[in-house]
Amino acid sequence: MYLTIGNISKDVRRQPSQHACVLLGYLPTAKLECFSSGRRSVERYRLFHYCMTQILKPLVVCGKEGVLMMCPDGLVRRIFPILAAYIADFPEQCLVACCKESRCPKCMVARDKRGESTRSSARVQRQTMKSLKKYENGEISKEEFDGNLGLRAVYKPFWADLPHCDIFMCITLDILHQLHKGMFKDHLVSWCSQLIGEDTLDEQFRAMTSYFKKGISSRKQWTGSDHKELE
Ligand SMILES: [Zn+2]
Repeated sequence: MYLTIGNISKDVRRQPSQHACVLLGYLPTAKLECFSSGRRSVERYRLFHYCMTQILKPLVVCGKEGVLMMCPDGLVRRIFPILAAYIADFPEQCLVACCKESRCPKCMVARDKRGESTRSSARVQRQTMKSLKKYENGEISKEEFDGNLGLRAVYKPFWADLPHCDIFMCITLDILHQLHKGMFKDHLVSWCSQLIGEDTLDEQFRAMTSYFKKGISSRKQWTGSDHKELE
């Protein structure tokens, strides 16, 4: 788990040599064999949230009362650090959002409606907290919790007590999986090939670039640069 702050400009923050990210802690990758195979996955979610709660505990107080920090101009100011962005790949986004991996960590789109051009309402932290708590207390059915909301039984998630935080707003795009592989390859390419047919699409790609001599439909392994060529 690494931490950085938002007021370091991006070109500096991206350079490892600038040490703009600090190592906050290591998260356990236990096999959790003490649990039955059916329980392991939800216990992994709970373990992660427990560890994150411990690691981020100081942030709760700092966000409420502030903390004195020396600024680059030499003056000491009271700073209120809050969690504003969380960078993770898709499975970890689901882990953070307490949702199933077959669902969207940012909105309520149904499992079988993903990839369709319908608008769905965004997940909201306060609402999600209510649902997690209700399920913990046995006040909503498994069917509603599981099927409708697509949540996993984690109570409390680590972001529950963080001040001024909406975790669903914090989650940022994972470019490889969600843009290159997801939006572009899985959706746009399959829409196009449905519209004009695989053979025509292959023909078009062959005509455009020698990179896709055999077209694209027969390609099994896709690398990052393959995706960029395709785009
Ligand atoms: Zn969504």
